[in-house]
Amino acid sequence: MSDLPPLREVIRRHGLAAKKSLGQNFLLDLNLTGRIARAAGPLDGATVIEIGPGPGGLTRALLTEGARRVVAVERDERAIAALDEIAAHHSGRLVIVSGDALTFDAKPYLDGSPARIVANLPYNIATVLLVSWLTTEPWPPWYDRMVLMFQREVAERIVAAPGGKSYGRLSVLAGWRTEAKILFDVHPSNFVPPPKVTSSVIELIPRVAPPPCRGPMLERITAAAFGQRRKMLRQSLKSLGTDPLPLLEAAGIEPTARAEEIPVEGFVALARALEAAGE
Ligand code: SAM
Repeated sequence: MSDLPPLREVIRRHGLAAKKSLGQNFLLDLNLTGRIARAAGPLDGATVIEIGPGPGGLTRALLTEGARRVVAVERDERAIAALDEIAAHHSGRLVIVSGDALTFDAKPYLDGSPARIVANLPYNIATVLLVSWLTTEPWPPWYDRMVLMFQREVAERIVAAPGGKSYGRLSVLAGWRTEAKILFDVHPSNFVPPPKVTSSVIELIPRVAPPPCRGPMLERITAAAFGQRRKMLRQSLKSLGTDPLPLLEAAGIEPTARAEEIPVEGFVALARALEAAGE
């Protein structure tokens, strides 16, 4: 590892000036990337899916921390040559996928060893990717843990409990299928270029047996309920196109309740009622 060039030099040599359109904020501090990789550990024997490796700071750390294999998906073609240099140092352990994470299917890259998703996510597609991983089928999923960096405000929404402003659709989806917690914050000065806001690294561990319901139903219910979060559910759920009162009754929820008071199990019950109603 020590004979790989410093990341600043990699960025300069490969012309990797950060592009805002690709959500590029690079981590150059190897102590910090090591800390993120260790948060996902132990990595021995694991296949790590990394989204957006960029110049490869976190990728290097994942390999140093002992990942059996890292599959790194990067859309910026300028970064591929830089990643090739890392791959050359770690015979066969780094698989570089040049493409879009939004259409990437991890399954062909899995070989039965435990799989983990670790990433400093591009902020513009971070929640779309998270929702796709949370709603994947079958469950338990193909990964055994996710360690992901988000903007602090988004991380707070993911881990929020009922009753506050941060609690919403993301909290319900994450709480339904995983145990999620914030591990630590990362100050803007740790990135090149520095983003405007603080970031947080979060861990999501899949629940073995989440309360059964269909993900798309839960997404519909939460979109309707939190789309008009200040309204009572008997009103906000009308946007589902069906009478909300029988659904609320079947789920044992007061029609006058508001979305942010309802725990995850309540939304699951509503999703099941919606499905039973044939909607
Ligand atoms: N992992 C690097 C680090 O920590 O320094 C870079 C993180 S940067 C926040 C996000 C990375 O995701 C960039 O390298 C960017 O090019 C890449 N990216 C953006 N959109 C992408 C997409 N749709 N698919 C794959 N990678 C993408």
